[in-house]
Amino acid sequence: MSHATRRQTSLKAIAVAAFGMASIALGTSAVAGPLSPEAHASILASVEGNTAAIDETALQIWQFAELGYQEHQSSALLAQRLRDAGFAVETGIANEPTSFLATFKNGEGPVIAVLAEYDALPGLSQTHNPVQESAGGNAGHGCGHNLFGTASVYSAIAVKEWMVANNIKGELRVYGTPAEEGGSGKVYMVRDGLFDDVDVSVHWHPGNVNSASQGNSMANVSGKFRFYGTAAHAAAAPDKGRSALDGIEAMNAMVNLMREHVPDRTRIHYAITDGGKAPNVVPAYAEAYYYVRHNNPEIVRDVLERVKKAAEGAAIGTGTRVEFEAIGGVYSMLHNETLMHVMDRNLRSVGGIEWTAEETALAREIQKTLTTQEDLTSVSRIQEASTGGDFGGSTDVSDVSWVTPTVGLSTATFVPGSAGHSWQNVVAAGSTIGLKGARLATKTLALTTAELFQSPDVIAEATAEFERRRGPNFEYRALLGDRAPALNYRD
Ligand SMILES: [Zn+2]
Ligand SMILES: [Zn+2]
Repeated sequence: MSHATRRQTSLKAIAVAAFGMASIALGTSAVAGPLSPEAHASILASVEGNTAAIDETALQIWQFAELGYQEHQSSALLAQRLRDAGFAVETGIANEPTSFLATFKNGEGPVIAVLAEYDALPGLSQTHNPVQESAGGNAGHGCGHNLFGTASVYSAIAVKEWMVANNIKGELRVYGTPAEEGGSGKVYMVRDGLFDDVDVSVHWHPGNVNSASQGNSMANVSGKFRFYGTAAHAAAAPDKGRSALDGIEAMNAMVNLMREHVPDRTRIHYAITDGGKAPNVVPAYAEAYYYVRHNNPEIVRDVLERVKKAAEGAAIGTGTRVEFEAIGGVYSMLHNETLMHVMDRNLRSVGGIEWTAEETALAREIQKTLTTQEDLTSVSRIQEASTGGDFGGSTDVSDVSWVTPTVGLSTATFVPGSAGHSWQNVVAAGSTIGLKGARLATKTLALTTAELFQSPDVIAEATAEFERRRGPNFEYRALLGDRAPALNYRD
C-alpha cells in the first residue's frame, strides 16, 4: 500500500471514531478518558517490576556513549530488550544502520508510536564523579539519551503487557531513532513515509523539571558551501589564480547585507571551515558551514534559497564555482494541546520525584559547579503545562510532529540549573537521579499511551487540532532535501 493510502485509511478510521462509532470502527470496547484504577495500577506495577532492568539498560548505554550513527551497541541492546518482550523488530530502517522499528499488533485499532533516542555527544566523556573528569573516551550522554531510549522502550513493554492481558486492540510501535544530535535521524524516517499511518507519536526528553509543556523550537537547515577556484603563486602569478576564499568572502558579505532584509528572528550563522592553507598560494578550495534558523520552516527554506543565490553570485563574481551540500535540517515543533493535557494529567497522576539523602547530597555537589543556584526541591513538583515558552534549540522530533499528532514530556533527570549538553548532565544521567527521572518518564509515557489506545475520540480531537495547526495545503518536504543519511557526520 502506498504511504498516502495508508494515511488515508488511518484517518478514515479516526473520522469514523469521531462520529461516536469508535468501538465499532476500532474494535475496542473501551471508553474514552482516564484509565481505570486497575489499569493504572497494573501499568505502574509493570514499570516498577522492571526497575532493575531499566536501570541496568540505561547505565549500559551510558557506558557505551556512542555518537550519532555509530550507536551499534546501544541500538542492539534496546532492540533485544524489545524482542525479548515479544515485539517484532526490524533493524536498519530508512537506510540508517543503527535504527530499528519494533512492532506489537493486536488486531485493528489506533497505531501509536513511541520515539527512542540513544546517541551521545562528542567531547563529553565523564566519570561518575561530580567533578569534571574524563572517563577516557570521547563521548558522553550530556543530553541523557541513554535514559530517553531506555524509558521509551520500557514504557512500550509495559503497555504491551497490559494490551495482552486485556486484549486491547491496536498497534504499538517503538521507533529507534539514531543521530538526534545533528544527524537528523528521524527526518529520513519521516521522509520515507514511515510515520504516515501513525495516529499519535509520543516522546519525552530528560530535563531539569517535570513538565508536559511544549516549548517552541526552531526549524533549521545546515549545510556546507564548497568553493572551487584556481591555485597560483599569490605574488608571481596572481592573475592566473581565482581565489575560492574570495568566493566565500563575497558570499558572506552578501549574506551579512541580507540580514536587514529577512523576517524577524531569522538566525544565520557561519564558520569558515576551510579558508586555504597558505597566504602565498591562491586558495583553490574553501568551505563555509552555514546554519539558517527560524521558527517557521517555510522562512528557513526561503532564506536558504537566498543564501544559495548569494553563493552563486559570489562564484560568478570571483570566477569560482560553488557546490552546496545540506547536512541537516529539521522543522519547528507543531504543538498539540489536546494531547498535552492527556500527558499532563498522567504525569500528575504519578507525581514528582523524591530524592534520597544521598541523591540530594550528589545534587548539591553538582550544584556547587553551576553558575545558577536553583531550588532543588522543584524536582518533587510538576510544572504548569503550557505551549508558550521557548525551547530555544532544534530537534528532529519536530519533523515527526508535522506528519502525526505528537506529544512529549520532560522529567527532572538533571540537577535544576544545569546547562544542556554539560558534563554535569552526564554525571546525573549516569546516577540514580537520572534513573529516577527516567522511571517517572517510563510510567507517564506508558499511562498516556495506554489511555490513548482506549480513547479514539481524543485521537480524533488531536488529529483535528493537528490538521488545523498545519493548515489545509500542507505537504511535508524535508528541509535537508533528498540527501541520504549523513552516516559519517561524526567521523
Ligand atoms: Zn536530546
Ligand atoms: Zn541534545
